[in-house]
Amino acid sequence: MAASTGSALTSTAFLSNKKELDVAAFSSSLPFSYRRCERTVSKKICSVMTPQQSERKPSATGSVKTAMTMTEKIFAKASKKTELSPGENVWVDVDVLMTHDVCGPGSIGIFKKEFGENAKVWDREKVVIIPDHYIFTSDERANRNVDILRDFSKEQNIKYFYDIKDLSDFRVNLDYKGVCHVALAQEGHCRPGEVLLGTDSHTCTAGAFGQFASGIGNTDAGFVLGTGKSLLKVPPTLRFVMDGEIPDYLLAKDLILQIIGEISVSGATYKAMEFLGTTVESLTMEERMTLCNMVVEAGGKNGVIPPDSTTFKYLEGKTSKAYEPVYSDENARFLSEYRFDVSKLEPVVAKPHSPDNRALARECKDVKIDRVYVGSCTGGKTEDFLAIAKVFLAAGKKVKVPTFIVPATQKVWMDLYSIPVPGAGGKTCSQIFEEAGCDTPASPGCAACLGGPRDTYARMNEPQVCVSTTNRNFPGRMGHKEGQIYLASPYTAAASALTGYVTDPREFLQ
Ligand code: SF4
Repeated sequence: MAASTGSALTSTAFLSNKKELDVAAFSSSLPFSYRRCERTVSKKICSVMTPQQSERKPSATGSVKTAMTMTEKIFAKASKKTELSPGENVWVDVDVLMTHDVCGPGSIGIFKKEFGENAKVWDREKVVIIPDHYIFTSDERANRNVDILRDFSKEQNIKYFYDIKDLSDFRVNLDYKGVCHVALAQEGHCRPGEVLLGTDSHTCTAGAFGQFASGIGNTDAGFVLGTGKSLLKVPPTLRFVMDGEIPDYLLAKDLILQIIGEISVSGATYKAMEFLGTTVESLTMEERMTLCNMVVEAGGKNGVIPPDSTTFKYLEGKTSKAYEPVYSDENARFLSEYRFDVSKLEPVVAKPHSPDNRALARECKDVKIDRVYVGSCTGGKTEDFLAIAKVFLAAGKKVKVPTFIVPATQKVWMDLYSIPVPGAGGKTCSQIFEEAGCDTPASPGCAACLGGPRDTYARMNEPQVCVSTTNRNFPGRMGHKEGQIYLASPYTAAASALTGYVTDPREFLQ
């Protein structure tokens, strides 16, 4: 593992030490080898691999006899194989293909070029088209992209096209949702055990539901549109076991920023990241989505969480399609296992200009900021805003810098105006935000998370410093190339808005 980019305290406190990791069970003179991979993979001793088993027990899934991880089982099911290993290339049947206004037109173009102008998609009920990126803009090319999606959806009779026609008021567009990854979950397109591919790198968000979910390029998407199949390499799995009660000043965003800081932006390249443990079990679906959303920032192929009663409850009433959850076998082979004691964690941020540039929030208390942005598929869900409201409520103060509120979807927007914030005497998030001096909640969508056309709401058009609940902080990500983005949890973002500096939320929550 790469040396921690944060303080020694965060690194050693969060990641269990070698003794706790039971490293003593392994010889330190030998590299770990992952025998089921075609190519031997070695790792330094910094985490522990599940002990190799001499005896193979039957898998939990019917005819499958080889111990497998969740991700391997989903691949096996989708490729109609009884067993497979990391590194194998297999054709998988795709359950859902999602595309949006940025990559949809390109994918459609490739589909038409390769399958013919009059070709039909493989299944009109398995293609989900969600305009969300460059929506509320006068940019003609961006508007044209949405028109292309509309024409194609009409031509193909696509069942799930979440259209927007009237840009002046999103509320009159009853079909319009907003950010694709949150909309996919809210509209019941995420189901355990399935394969969901999307032309967006954060498609991995849906791994929270125990499915294989991953981003693909336009060429692959064009092929999926025509055939419903994709050729995929089975990724090996890294297992992250998080135990302990999550302190009430931490959110899932802190956990994933901590992990990315620990393993680096390339630490999980083409690997599945499986999250489990008592902490993960205690997380809501929205928090699990935050965890899986950012696996791609560590290079992960997918993130995945074992489905449980929380998952099944969330899905109630959202989908009528039967699904089959799968779970890693007891003796499945993991490339590495990382164990974390979450109770020892502190709020963290990712400093400019990389999601693995981790630091404790309190270490950055002298960083003066110009604005706070709350939104995106990572940090623009209902619970993210409830977290912001909780800090504002506890502080009873006004924000010191412009604070932008961008609900991910139309449903989230409605929640801000209708759900009473716990302990607020019936007040909603929107009322609390108004009293704190935030900007009025904007139209739902990706907005300034990825910059967008110059007239995009809350775009960083100046070289400012921003604390953001989004997932990327590369140069230019939110607009200006010299802008500085500190990725943070909603708690830390709210605390920072109240002081005008990067601020540990414990300043207001304890
Ligand atoms: S909110 Fe940001 S990260 Fe999420 S899909 Fe939109 S642009 Fe991508």
